[in-house]
Amino acid sequence: MNDLLPEQSPVWRYVEHTVQRCLQCYGYREIRFPLLESTELFKRSIGEVTDIVEKEMYTWADRNGDSVTLRPEGTAGCVRAALQNGLLRNQVQRFWYSGPMFRYERPQKGRLRQFHQIGAEVFGLEGPDIDAEMLVMTARLWRDLGLDRHVRLQLNSLGTAEARAGYREALVDYLSAHRQALDEDSQRRLDSNPLRILDSKNEGTQALLADAPNLMDFLDEASRAHFDQLCHLLEQAGVEFEINPHLVRGLDYYGKTVFEWVTDALGAQGTVCAGGRYDGLVAHLGGAPTPAVGFGMGEERLVLLLDAVGSVPDSVGRILDAYMVVAAGQESVALTCSETLRELCPGLRLQNHCGGGSFKSQLKKADRSGAEVALIIGDSEAAAGTLTVKYLRRDEQQTLPVADAATLINQLLAVV
Ligand code: ATP
Ligand code: MG
Repeated sequence: MNDLLPEQSPVWRYVEHTVQRCLQCYGYREIRFPLLESTELFKRSIGEVTDIVEKEMYTWADRNGDSVTLRPEGTAGCVRAALQNGLLRNQVQRFWYSGPMFRYERPQKGRLRQFHQIGAEVFGLEGPDIDAEMLVMTARLWRDLGLDRHVRLQLNSLGTAEARAGYREALVDYLSAHRQALDEDSQRRLDSNPLRILDSKNEGTQALLADAPNLMDFLDEASRAHFDQLCHLLEQAGVEFEINPHLVRGLDYYGKTVFEWVTDALGAQGTVCAGGRYDGLVAHLGGAPTPAVGFGMGEERLVLLLDAVGSVPDSVGRILDAYMVVAAGQESVALTCSETLRELCPGLRLQNHCGGGSFKSQLKKADRSGAEVALIIGDSEAAAGTLTVKYLRRDEQQTLPVADAATLINQLLAVV
């Protein structure tokens, strides 16, 4: 579980701000729900025979003896909250949320025990048009973040539960004949949850899967039509994709469309955004049958990717525009002057020097602060009601009345 230090937080804010703005532009509204839910909720929705429920949840009994779990993902809690508050009755809803998730995994680059996701969920729409809109939206987001050349979209359809049952049989037949060649986890899953084997990261198992029956060949007609129409819509919209018949996702609730946005720039932890359709979950959790589709993106991986490909804008790291330097004895003038500037220059990020010291040492601090300008109140400025604006990135300065300095600063802020 990582600390997020002030040095890194601007990039995080940039990612969150950019993603949230994009979601809002498509009519998504924010929903917040607890970090802690009853364990049963996750078991029921994610599935008993999944990595998450089998070995990754932080679960304990509270003082009442009730089993509670720190949320390992957002969809279950989102559906629970929406149901409990009556938000899904004959309505279409587009929600987004963000925050920490918890999984007891082996920590490594791009994989933490407390990690952060931004998620989106849509309820009440069953057609491929909303799947397509969601993917068009994420494609726009990659452009907004300057990541579009570094991620690709993988798509698959899991069909209906019946279609998967037919496929499951064929897959088990095929894999049973090669049981000894499977990794240990996969051997166990052959009996409990064979589809999950497709997701195995084991190389030997993946090699075996190359000749396995293809889920696409088992799709029911409705799922097939849904998938074809989705592909058509994406092609028309100019969103490129690859069909990956081994894409099954790590949670039980998915059916029909599943997708992942992946990158090659982060090694094994290459999935930055993943989701799909889960038409059965709302009813499974006690609501009226309600089609749904959603995704979650890992913020850690987005930040790593932005750093790896160098697409964080320079302005993101800058935290100050101006640093006010003040002669001994003129602190009160400096305080009044900086408050006047805050009125006249909305949004100005100004830090007053505190703690005294020579002009020289104060200017050094101004320089190190990353600000564009130092604002100097010496004895003569204090007497004349003026302010010296010193450009820290070039050898130039100007002394002018405070109101004029404010105008200058506003012009300056507009161009940097
Ligand atoms: P993976 O195959 O990488 O384990 P997953 O299928 O378990 O991913 P999801 O449950 O679909 O992941 O979560 C959606 C996204 O959240 C992932 O694509 C990834 O970007 C991010 N994510 C998942 N687990 C972690 C983690 N432990 N640390 C950091 N990010 C994570
Ligand atoms: Mg995982």
